[in-house]
Amino acid sequence: MIPFNVPPFLGTETNYIAKAIENHKICGDGPFTKECHQWLENKTGAAKALLTTSCTDALELAALLLDIQPGDEVILPSFTFCSTADAFALRGAKLVFVDIRPDTMNIDETKIEDAITDKTKAIVPVHYAGVACEMDTIMDIARRHNLAVVEDAAQAVMSEYKGKALGAIGDYGCYSFHETKNYSMGEGGAILIKDPAKIEDAEILREKGTNRSVFLRGQIDKYTWVNYGSSYLPSDMNAAYLWAQLEEADKINNDRLASWQKYYDAFEDLEKKGFVQRPVIPEGCKHNAHMFYLKAKNLEERTALISFLKENGILAVFHYIPLHSAPAGQKFGVFHGEDKYTTAESDRLLRLPMYYGLTDSDINKVIDTVIRFYQK
Ligand SMILES: *Cc1c(COP(=O)(O)O)cnc(C)c1O
Repeated sequence: MIPFNVPPFLGTETNYIAKAIENHKICGDGPFTKECHQWLENKTGAAKALLTTSCTDALELAALLLDIQPGDEVILPSFTFCSTADAFALRGAKLVFVDIRPDTMNIDETKIEDAITDKTKAIVPVHYAGVACEMDTIMDIARRHNLAVVEDAAQAVMSEYKGKALGAIGDYGCYSFHETKNYSMGEGGAILIKDPAKIEDAEILREKGTNRSVFLRGQIDKYTWVNYGSSYLPSDMNAAYLWAQLEEADKINNDRLASWQKYYDAFEDLEKKGFVQRPVIPEGCKHNAHMFYLKAKNLEERTALISFLKENGILAVFHYIPLHSAPAGQKFGVFHGEDKYTTAESDRLLRLPMYYGLTDSDINKVIDTVIRFYQK
């Protein structure tokens, strides 16, 4: 069986985890966490990066920093993972889903403004497949209406929009280091903070409502409980695993991009013949090969293609069931405007195996099998 995903592993992780144990520093904010913070800040230009226990938690932290209150509204796509919505639903916000663009599967920036009301507090663009949303337009709308922007950049580490790192364009950006993402620590994530004035609030919320981070920097001589908060720090053992990968981020990125390009080139002919559609990378976007997907004609054809691949030893998967059609989406949200593309396009999409270390022979087998399906 060719798996759909294999968690990234370079070999150096084991040694770094052993070091974290030898350091007797296995709780949060140890030496490996600091290395990761520094790397993320250098790479993205964010004023501050803080590792969290997941991207879900990074999103929760962003919702707390924005002081989202019951009845506030948040605009997001329905074609996304439930975590994007959870963070705001937990604060009592009303979720306002808008349609996606069929080319990138990202939120349609031209549909956002019409969904804004006097209760709207934030826009949450999701950079699907590590391909940027139209951020200039989104930031302009946010500025004109005085709204916050939280980027769900879970899939977008190492991706760029017009030379800027995804996650560092909006007020807050949230990364995932789950084992299915390009860079991993098992479970984990990070929040990127643009405004230096928000750093201390973020540190307090992340550290159980205490000013322990200020204390550890030696700026005060004892720490205390100053606000409500939670515990969003990952163990330094997990950070050690991640550090091994961030250190070699270009190696992982280049390997994935090469696999992506092989798929992309190989399916050109099927696209020309009108059988499938390949991903679209708009001008000015640098992606990170987080995933390679194809769009079949419709749901039926997609189901048949997934079965055919499985019979031939290849795992391909689909996602997402649009949030507005899920029970929680109906409870916490509404779809604003017409669902022209969200449901129809998500029904057609399937993801092919994509991970660091995917071999040429496996890629060729996947390509040949897809082509054989369309020759039938
Ligand atoms: C993976 C993912 C998340 C959740 O990440 P976790 O680190 O597992 O919490 C959120 N949003 C999107 C778009 C994702 O792909």
